[in-house]
Amino acid sequence: MTATLLTARWVLGNVDGRHRLYEQGEVVYDGDSILFVGHGYPGEVARRIDCGMSLIAPGFIDLDALSDLDTTVLGYDNQPPAKKGRIWPRSYIERGPYEMYSPDELAFQKRYAFTQLIRNGITTALPIASLFYRAWGETVGEFEAAADAAIDLGLRVYLGPAYRTGNFVVEEDGTVGTMFDEPRGLAELNAAIAFAKTQEGRAGGLIKAMLAPDRVETCTPELLKRSAAAAKDLDIPVRLHCHQSKIEYDTVLALHGKSPAEWLESLGFLSDRALLPHATYVSGSSRIDRPGRDLEIMRDNGASIVHCPLVSARHGSSIESFSRYKAMGLKIGLGTDTWPADMLLNCQVGMMFNRVIERSTGVVRSEDYFDAATLGGAEALRRPDLGRLSPGAKADIVVWDLAHDRIGQVIDPIQTLMLNASGRDARHVIINGRMVMWDGVLPGVDHLAMQMRAQEQFDRLIAKYPERTLGHPPVSEIFSTAYPVERRPA
Ligand SMILES: [Zn+2]
Repeated sequence: MTATLLTARWVLGNVDGRHRLYEQGEVVYDGDSILFVGHGYPGEVARRIDCGMSLIAPGFIDLDALSDLDTTVLGYDNQPPAKKGRIWPRSYIERGPYEMYSPDELAFQKRYAFTQLIRNGITTALPIASLFYRAWGETVGEFEAAADAAIDLGLRVYLGPAYRTGNFVVEEDGTVGTMFDEPRGLAELNAAIAFAKTQEGRAGGLIKAMLAPDRVETCTPELLKRSAAAAKDLDIPVRLHCHQSKIEYDTVLALHGKSPAEWLESLGFLSDRALLPHATYVSGSSRIDRPGRDLEIMRDNGASIVHCPLVSARHGSSIESFSRYKAMGLKIGLGTDTWPADMLLNCQVGMMFNRVIERSTGVVRSEDYFDAATLGGAEALRRPDLGRLSPGAKADIVVWDLAHDRIGQVIDPIQTLMLNASGRDARHVIINGRMVMWDGVLPGVDHLAMQMRAQEQFDRLIAKYPERTLGHPPVSEIFSTAYPVERRPA
């Protein structure tokens, strides 16, 4: 007798693939799996825990999970990218791009990010990180360290180092073009395939593999064809950023005479293994003045889009729109992608954008986004055992605190999450049947020490920005302050 029974004011169970609320419900799990959800469990259990005025819910699935010290935030008030260290200048490429972090620092930032994901109620994560500060792609070494960190902390992950055959380059006169190094990217793909074979299924299935070609515009056809073939061969997900910016769309159109989706379909890249962030720049939208069937192509090939409302909104874009994508039958999962790794905040932003875009409050409801953050991610990963609390599903459980004195007035618990709560209200997190966070504490993790180390590491990275910024201006010229700053005299 080893089972654990949790009870709370609300339990979000699942019947036939649809979430259902049980008032004063019970959830029972044993080992890594759920045994029972509902009222009046008839069996014996080893322990009972009453979580009081809480919502017990399935953990979130983050398909584009922030996994580094987020440099994207530096672009919030500092544009354009070509002048702010986000496109490599010719001079930096000629001196030879280099790793701006040590292997130790790369390993640390993954571990740090994983603790943040867990604290926000994310129980399955597919890491994403910037390649701007890298020599080229991500390395197997840092992902071996990431796997160890995930096992240590207890986070369910799909891991694969990002790779690419190309990159953008900005010339001295400010023009932006592309450069390619196919042998380098193909070598990285081979390393990623070898990594996938060694990692898939580790730690009782907690560690899974994925392939992560970085962005559609920085990939050659050969890289994408081989990636799709390897994903099929290994039967693992393959994630590729596409339809996420105007420059990307225009670049692919110029290079290949097709939109990103059209090109990917022609290469045989699209399938139900394909995860596609962010689908914000598509034919027929207000941002792309070109007729086409981009969304239909993704849908008809069974691909899932990865919708990251917060990072898109911060850059002035959004999908158009969540409710329309859903109505046309497109599969939608969610990702955090930027700091804070708060899935609730992403749902909140996404819901509001949907209503603004459609000029209607009726187009989207709280459960639509909660579904996307749980069931949508599970469908994208082809994992009917994730994203739900029902017998046989994995015991990936988050207990949301609805009793504290800043939550406001609680109405329906899911609506309350979408209105009043933040990721910080995740109180307990259980993954694969293991209590990885209890009362906000991750055993053995010194959050304050990590915070200080992360800040120091980030400050050192910022100091290196002039080396890869067009014209190499000082940091004070690259990044603005909100108001004039009076420095204290030395
Ligand atoms: Zn992204």
